[in-house]
Amino acid sequence: MTSVERRWTSRLTGLPAFDTSGYRHVVAVAAHPDDETLGASGILQALHDNGCRVDVVVASDGEAAFPKLGQRERTELGHRRRLELAESLRVQGIDAEVHWLGLPDSGLTEHADEMVAALRELLADADCCLLPWPNDPHPDHSIVGKSVLAAAPVTTHCWSYPIWMWHWTAEESEEIPWRHAYGYELSPAQRHRKSSGVQAFVSQLERGPDGSDPILPPDVLEHFDRDCEVLFRQPRRQSTPIGRFQELYAGNADPWHTKDSWYERRKRATLLAALRANATGTPWNRPATPAR
Ligand SMILES: [Zn+2]
Repeated sequence: MTSVERRWTSRLTGLPAFDTSGYRHVVAVAAHPDDETLGASGILQALHDNGCRVDVVVASDGEAAFPKLGQRERTELGHRRRLELAESLRVQGIDAEVHWLGLPDSGLTEHADEMVAALRELLADADCCLLPWPNDPHPDHSIVGKSVLAAAPVTTHCWSYPIWMWHWTAEESEEIPWRHAYGYELSPAQRHRKSSGVQAFVSQLERGPDGSDPILPPDVLEHFDRDCEVLFRQPRRQSTPIGRFQELYAGNADPWHTKDSWYERRKRATLLAALRANATGTPWNRPATPAR
């Protein structure tokens, strides 16, 4: 174990446990094919094994992993990475529908609006979403995380997974929201399946076609070979910014005219009367008198 990884693991003991029960439909969103597996394989396995429907959304094909490649080689790499994700999910035992957004790898910051529009539809039914940590130092990861938070319904529980934070950020950084961190402990079987899933991303483990270094060398991979995965709980999005109410009340103490509008006064009186009737019972909700 490298000294970097040792420093991280010492921070991970005692985190509250992430509870995988109770979810019906999870959508895991990734910037590149492999993020979801590196960041949350064990959690996805557990959700899937609990009977939860699993969808995976991948913003790009990851074709720009090796920037020196020409257009034709990039297209080939993108195809290869799509196949790698299918194989990876298969060996992890995760039966998931994969949605490819086909946006340009390393250029996702310029396509945030398209992402938000696509994600709005894909997340409409999700009660759980796993997204890249919005403060991840990789710009693609960061914009995908932010787009998810802009698109997710207020009823969706959003949890973010870090990827490049482990490699590029110091563990004492104030950017890391440790107070929102939860840990999920992988069983030996889950850890084994995760390892097989990571090994399926062969293009990221070997040297690039241009001879450049692997994207996932051993000192990066060791951050994902732990018995614990970490998620940050993302606060729920406010449906209306608080500033809107401050503006409304700044110039008028009763912006809804509850005191001088006949309609508002009548609505309030009707509501209060209904509440009183409900407390004592009404002809239509009073318990039936038992037959004698
Ligand atoms: Zn990535």
